[in-house]
Amino acid sequence: MAVTVNLAFALDFTLIKKENNVSDPTLLVVGGIQGDEPGGFNASTILATHYTITKGNVWVVPNLNFYSIVKRSRGPYGDMNRKFATLKKSDPEYKIVQRIKSIITDKQVDLVVNMHDGSGFYREKYIDKLHNPYKWGQSSIIDQATFDFNSPYKDLLKISQYVVKHVNEHLLDKEHRYHTHNTKTREGDVEMAKSLTYFAINNKKPAFGNEATKEFSTPYRVYYHLLALEAYMNYMGIKFSRNFELTPKDIASVINEDYEVTLFEKITIPTKGIRSKLRYFPIDKDRTVYRSKNPLICAIKEGNSYKLHYGNHSITSLSPQFFRYDDSLKKLELLVDGEVKDVPTGSTICVDKYFKVRSKKGFRVNIIGYSNSKKIETDVKIYHNDIPKRFSIDKDGKIFRIEVYRDKKFSGMFLVKFR
Ligand SMILES: [Zn+2]
Repeated sequence: MAVTVNLAFALDFTLIKKENNVSDPTLLVVGGIQGDEPGGFNASTILATHYTITKGNVWVVPNLNFYSIVKRSRGPYGDMNRKFATLKKSDPEYKIVQRIKSIITDKQVDLVVNMHDGSGFYREKYIDKLHNPYKWGQSSIIDQATFDFNSPYKDLLKISQYVVKHVNEHLLDKEHRYHTHNTKTREGDVEMAKSLTYFAINNKKPAFGNEATKEFSTPYRVYYHLLALEAYMNYMGIKFSRNFELTPKDIASVINEDYEVTLFEKITIPTKGIRSKLRYFPIDKDRTVYRSKNPLICAIKEGNSYKLHYGNHSITSLSPQFFRYDDSLKKLELLVDGEVKDVPTGSTICVDKYFKVRSKKGFRVNIIGYSNSKKIETDVKIYHNDIPKRFSIDKDGKIFRIEVYRDKKFSGMFLVKFR
């Protein structure tokens, strides 16, 4: 799965549909309504990227308020979770709210979970400053106990208790215990009446808030979020598998995988360990499409540079050197440690000792940072020591750029990675 995005729409949220038979139940999971809650949006993303759904359907919006995620802010334009009762058309988030409302009310959606990271630990009775009824962390939130219309999921309290029980069977510490928190919104909770879940309830969609606690690091928050999501799927008869162990340690490795981002079909760069600024990046002003396997990754144009973000973190900033692109180069021939390789444009090539780029008629090769007395960069063996480390794109000094040009146009980039 890769998400393809146009630069102009980089901060629109993504809807990922994982479907089998659409007449079976559909769960809608929403993450990232508030950008400073990485447990919720990382858990939603992992559900979208690392789970296979084999029966039933799961729709995931992992990055609802993507701008707030990039800004690492609860809400640069105010709290989006208070915009679901009424909202002026002039509000900068009006379109986003309208779009998610139409997804929530889609007739295929049977149950909605909104993912949050809350403060402290919710407890029914006051225990201490961190554990009390005014905290939200480690709870399953419902607006009311039941619905008065027909839905197999109308018993909200019962479902919440089922989820809480499943989570509590897998606690890492007894302090982490989950509880159901019924906000009884209809009885006069003015704030909650403006929320996404209450909008869903009023549109006959069973809806739940799921809270991990901000007391935990992100992998621990995600652990509890995923336990809860698996319980919702179990309850709905949605069958799934995942390709990692559900432990905070494995979750941390999933979050820290290298997701790569392919820019404008010409350049693929890793998302891990990259220098914070990359200079003279060949970019065509008119090309706008990029893709990544991770929906939390975006490219945005800020002033004269192109910024890459992954969730709350900045990956790198590219200072462009503008070129027209040439699309005629499909691949390049390289000799890698003695072996001939035909390499598609945009690939990364792993090298043990040396590589040699075969010259190609009509094209000019520029290995960034490499030079020799003959000023020839093709058909020569190049070793790691031949390129000064400061020219690498990664902080470890192992990954270097090969750029290919045709006349004055840029034809593509390849990366060589020394092991
Ligand atoms: Zn929240």
